[in-house]
Amino acid sequence: MKWHQFEAAAVLRELNSGLTTGLSDAEIERRIKQYGRNELIVNAVKNPWLILWEQFTSLMAVILILAAVVSAILADYADALAISAIVIINAIIGFSHEFRAEKAIAALKKLAVPLVRVRRNGLVQELPSYHLVPGDIVLLEAGNVVAADCRLLEVADLQAQESALTGESASIKKTTAALSGSDVQIGDRLNMVFMGTFIVAGLGQAVVTGTGMNTELGQIATMIQKVDREETPLQRRLGQLGKRLAVLALLLVALIFTVGLLRGEELRLMLLTAVSIGVAAIPEGLPTVVMIALALGAQRMLTRKALVRKLPAVETLGSVTVICSDKTGTLTQNRMKVAAIQLVDRRIDLDQNSNQAKSDQRNQPGMGILLAGCALCNDAFVPKNSDAASVPLGDPTETALAVVASEFGVWKSDLDSSFPRIGAIQFTSERKCMTTVHQVPLTEAGVPELTQICKDAGAPCIALTKGAADVLLDISDSIWINARIEPLNDDWRSRISTNCNAMAQDGMRVLGHAFRPLLEVPTDWNPTLLEQKLTFIGSTGIIDPPRIEVSAAVATCKAAGIRTVMITGDHPLTAQSIANQLGISGSGRILAGTDLGPMTDESLERLSDETAVYARVSPQHKLKIIQSLQRRGHIVAMTGDGVNDAPALKKADIGVAMGVVGTDVAKEAADMVLLDDNFATIVAAVEEGRVIYDNIRKFAKYILTTNSAEIWVMLLAPLLGMPIPLLPLQILWMNLITDGFPALALGVEPAERDIMLHPPHPPTESLFSRGLGRHVLLVGLLMGLVSLSIGYYYWHSNDSNWRAVLFTTLTLSQMAHALAVRSERYSLFQIGILSNQYLLVALSLTIVLQLGLIYEPFLQSVFSTSALPAWDLGIAVVVSSSIFWIVELEKWVLRRNSPQIRANMRIME
Ligand code: ATP
Repeated sequence: MKWHQFEAAAVLRELNSGLTTGLSDAEIERRIKQYGRNELIVNAVKNPWLILWEQFTSLMAVILILAAVVSAILADYADALAISAIVIINAIIGFSHEFRAEKAIAALKKLAVPLVRVRRNGLVQELPSYHLVPGDIVLLEAGNVVAADCRLLEVADLQAQESALTGESASIKKTTAALSGSDVQIGDRLNMVFMGTFIVAGLGQAVVTGTGMNTELGQIATMIQKVDREETPLQRRLGQLGKRLAVLALLLVALIFTVGLLRGEELRLMLLTAVSIGVAAIPEGLPTVVMIALALGAQRMLTRKALVRKLPAVETLGSVTVICSDKTGTLTQNRMKVAAIQLVDRRIDLDQNSNQAKSDQRNQPGMGILLAGCALCNDAFVPKNSDAASVPLGDPTETALAVVASEFGVWKSDLDSSFPRIGAIQFTSERKCMTTVHQVPLTEAGVPELTQICKDAGAPCIALTKGAADVLLDISDSIWINARIEPLNDDWRSRISTNCNAMAQDGMRVLGHAFRPLLEVPTDWNPTLLEQKLTFIGSTGIIDPPRIEVSAAVATCKAAGIRTVMITGDHPLTAQSIANQLGISGSGRILAGTDLGPMTDESLERLSDETAVYARVSPQHKLKIIQSLQRRGHIVAMTGDGVNDAPALKKADIGVAMGVVGTDVAKEAADMVLLDDNFATIVAAVEEGRVIYDNIRKFAKYILTTNSAEIWVMLLAPLLGMPIPLLPLQILWMNLITDGFPALALGVEPAERDIMLHPPHPPTESLFSRGLGRHVLLVGLLMGLVSLSIGYYYWHSNDSNWRAVLFTTLTLSQMAHALAVRSERYSLFQIGILSNQYLLVALSLTIVLQLGLIYEPFLQSVFSTSALPAWDLGIAVVVSSSIFWIVELEKWVLRRNSPQIRANMRIME
């Protein structure tokens, strides 16, 4: 249907809907059945069958299946069955983890879906966008992402950005009139808005005409991803590493295979051995493990109120070096309250004012008109009756102003009817002010001062402007004093500035108020025309206390080598005061938006390292700040909430959107959404990011050391003249079954106590840095030597149990190793033996399985083991535990030689 060709009323008729009523419940239910959910199917969650299928089609599984088939052909049914069983058990374990990770991603996706305001049954409600059906009436405002294709019914200066569909980045002004012509291109359908585009300005109401795959976006079947699952840098690096290790492994396998044959081992045995070692040595599964760790980590972050929208963010979070945060609502509580009123010649501190005093002051010159400005140039809703259910609604700054007016007996609802609003120029962060134009009543209703001014000037209407006091002073040319207008000379200008600065120094947000009588109703609403030649009345000082938890979070960042930078639209003095209270500024410098504009990239880059506060900035400045920090090599997290913040959120290494006050556009552009808008949540997410990275390292350290130990055993045994030391099934058993449980338990190791006491790791850091590669080779060698020596001793003594002893010692030393690598720096006794109970369960299970393998006759026959006398088992336990002590010694040396670790230990004590 060409909806744009029809008049709005005809579209509503056709869709059987009404502008003021919307659809009824019964109709909605019917349409959900008919049209399905408003989703694009292309980005569906990974099918569980596909996950299962992948478990059997990975390179490792295919090799093993082939090995099983070859064994069966050679009539070695026991091996064939055992290999098949191992492949199946391994697939079940792999599937269950990947499935859990997929479910975690799916849950995140659901939360990442924007909410839409819809009118149904005559009432406005908020719904997740996938509930929309054709015929729904949606309410649109600046910052919304359009959730379905819609025909516009009403617009007020509505503008949309449709680059997702048309590639055109300029915003398009929308209308409601029907368009003629059947071949109007999407970009020219001015009376429609489309799924995936967003509203940049204005308000509107529209009826949904197409949902899900029946939208223009659905037809081109691309999708703005809700939770990105692209490969993370670490996964990519591990993938490349896997390939390099695979080549090395193949060389080693070829070597072991050839040496074995030369030493007269059976070809069949050597073939199977080669396959088993190949499987052991190639860390093919590591990227998947990283994905699982990141997805489950993202799920944990959600419990700390951080919603991750892009999986790589979890990884990058651990490397963040600078957090740039908005002030209002993130560092402060966003509970604004007017604490002082400054008229041109008088200051009134409200805390000391009784109600009686307030009603007296209301009639003093200047006061009535300032309070009227507070109430009228305002979009908040303040109920007149004070029952508990009706609370003020709206932007906190505006609510504070409307509330203070009401405390003086000036009610917004009363004034709104006496001074009807003719139009408004909405607030923007760039202009930092807002103007409303009102018709002035002929009687002196409400505010005699105001009516008199207009009468004297012969003006039928008046413009009321409020905004940042310094900005307002710049566009004012007179003041209101002693009930008359006087020129704003330099003397007054400096007195007013001094007064405003005094309030700002106390941490208040200072808003100026001004008016301008208008001789006619404006036809051009250009801000530069209306917001000039104003008469300045006075200012209001609004306090917004810092959030309680932020000081501690800022201190945590400092200890963790992360700088906190405040970026605010507020006045530099206000910003400095709050920054001081939170411990952000230190000796840092303050830069104002006016300094930033003319500054060259080089100078900003130089200053960015020492700047703690950027004040009076516009969203555009954020981009400049990020770029300069990134050029200095920083990994930057940046918060934002408005439409104009989107480019900065995209550019930041971690874009953080506000979940409560943020627009859909900001959330869409962000890597992470704060569900509570709290700075401390960013710090919690950074901590989780570090824990996840640490645990991936521990996991990798454990698995790779184990693999290296097995390879050392296989390589060195022939040098000692021994026959093949580990049989293929034993190798597979160790790698695919017994190693798996402890490794996964290491993946959920709790945070190290000093996790936020050391600097962030560089994002390009190799997984093998900080001694991990050396550990893998040397501790692996040691583990191999320990097992091999005991095996050699038994073999040399002609003890038929020699292989079982070697096999058991190697498995047990891997368990000992798992306990020791729980912490990279601290001893097991410092972190507490019981502090990772999953690992204890995993170790117990592994030990039971291993004992089963040695003592259970059927398993004995399959795995070619034999029952060990208690004495031999005891020796294996003692010898293998040496690995634990050696790794503990390694960590002790590290602690002794690192001043940083010693300092951290003192802090933790
Ligand atoms: P932050 O960046 O710290 O979160 P902010 O986002 O509140 O602060 P802006 O919204 O850009 O900063 O506001 C900048 C200035 O504009 C404020 O200091 C205030 O003086 C003024 N201002 C804020 N809200 C309004 C409003 N609703 N009407 C008029 N002026 C406003």
